[in-house]
Amino acid sequence: MAYDTNNIFAKILRGEIPCKKVHEDEFALAFHDINPQAPIHVLVIPKGPYESMADFSAKATEAEIAGFIRAVGTVGRQLGIETNGYRILANHGHDSRQEVPHFHIHVFGGRDLGSMLGKPRA
Ligand code: 5GP
Repeated sequence: MAYDTNNIFAKILRGEIPCKKVHEDEFALAFHDINPQAPIHVLVIPKGPYESMADFSAKATEAEIAGFIRAVGTVGRQLGIETNGYRILANHGHDSRQEVPHFHIHVFGGRDLGSMLGKPRA
């Protein structure tokens, strides 16, 4: 499937929609989720046009992959949640209920995050 240049995160990257920025570098932008699921809930997105984890892992350059993963670590440190711990999560496709078709990693922290997975659809 072709990357949708009008998805909401593409608009945030172009500055057409505001975000509460946490970190930005050559490879990634990190900002607070609009509907936080934990006291800290930040999204880290690569700057390139990748739809999902599958797309990013297959097509991004080594530099983009390394830069992006380093940015996720930087965000954890910057948010002050490295010591107590945090969870990262990336949804890919239908079964994960991925909503926005621009690859992103969720960073959750600020409380005990409980067990790993929610319940499936009834
Ligand atoms: P997904 O389900 O695709 O993994 O997660 C998409 C996330 O993007 C959701 O947690 C949702 O709250 C967040 N989100 C959707 N639209 C916006 C927006 O316009 N701004 C921000 N900051 N987050 C958004």
